[in-house]
Amino acid sequence: MVNNRIKELAAAYKSEFIANRRHLHANPELSFQEFQTAAFVEKQLRGFGINQIEHKAGTGILAIIEGNSPSKKVIALRGDMDALPIVEQNDVSYKSTIPGVMHACGHDVHTASLLGAAKILNEIKDQFEGTVKLIFQPGEELIPGGASLMIKDKALENPRPSGIIGQHVMPFIPVGKVGFRKGMYMASADELYITVKGKGGHGAMPETLVDPVLIASHMIVALQQVVSRNASPKIPSVLSFGRVEALGATNIIPNEVKIQGTFRTLNEEWRAKAHGHMVNIAKGIVEGMGGELDFEVRRGYPFLKNAEALTARAQEAAIQYLGQENVVDLDIWMAAEDFSYYTQEIDGCFYRLGTRNESKGIVSGVHTPTFDIDEDALEIGAGLMAWIAINELGSL
Ligand SMILES: [Zn+2]
Ligand SMILES: [Zn+2]
Repeated sequence: MVNNRIKELAAAYKSEFIANRRHLHANPELSFQEFQTAAFVEKQLRGFGINQIEHKAGTGILAIIEGNSPSKKVIALRGDMDALPIVEQNDVSYKSTIPGVMHACGHDVHTASLLGAAKILNEIKDQFEGTVKLIFQPGEELIPGGASLMIKDKALENPRPSGIIGQHVMPFIPVGKVGFRKGMYMASADELYITVKGKGGHGAMPETLVDPVLIASHMIVALQQVVSRNASPKIPSVLSFGRVEALGATNIIPNEVKIQGTFRTLNEEWRAKAHGHMVNIAKGIVEGMGGELDFEVRRGYPFLKNAEALTARAQEAAIQYLGQENVVDLDIWMAAEDFSYYTQEIDGCFYRLGTRNESKGIVSGVHTPTFDIDEDALEIGAGLMAWIAINELGSL
């Protein structure tokens, strides 16, 4: 069985996967600056004997592995490569050597796992049919998202994959397990930048002012009605404001208030409508109270939908590979992920790789200075991805 061969190879190369992950972890690069990372990926791929390599979207790498009858079916595997502007607080030998930059979202794990899957797949390419496209993308953490740029740069063309598989570390799932969800999975995320302008002055003379603090307060409360009254109860939506800046004092009313927030949901039609509702409600309140409004909606990633059939097959493949007890169902997750751009073009399956190990104290969430993984996850990350790809393509 190819399944067993993949397991053997993943176990045999485990220390290499870990070494690669540690190298990447120690040398993180911010979004769209993944120059050394891309060079490392290319060198590794060439070392495996994979030479069909193209540079895409600046620091992205696209590579191709052809099995038998390469044009029969094409499947894409995706890993993201960028790190975050966080100062690492872990005391480990592979701690970040770049001040203020850290792989705190596990993209080092995704890149090392995809390299591992590539090595395995290349070694057994006489045992499957079709073509595997490896997409090492830049800039997942930063709008407009490296995925959208890879698509613009034709990463999904020539040949066009029938589906794309991505994986992401999940510190809430114990190492050894993986998680899947068919259909709606992750949210769209739009950034809101609002300025309410009024007329400031002495706090003791309200009759001479247009108080932007009071107007902004009414506006924030009223905007919650978009979620409670305009949104369908069947579509999850979140509207949160995390920054309100009114630089007055006890007795000084400022001229303006600046507000920042995020709007997330799981339906593109409703998302567009919600933007309109928010602007209209804000405008009505602000102008009705004599102020002026500047409301910018900075569009982020679309919502992520896992294709039903592809995800069902991938989950079944994971059960064969890891056993039923190690494959869990996931809940909807209101974070955003630029993998969603691929799923707007072709069928996609984005699954979670468990990395938690309480006995080793590995419990921190992603985007925190103490995030780390149980590195046993890499053997699964590489092997399972290779197995899902072959399961899609058909083994000989
Ligand atoms: Zn992240
Ligand atoms: Zn991430």
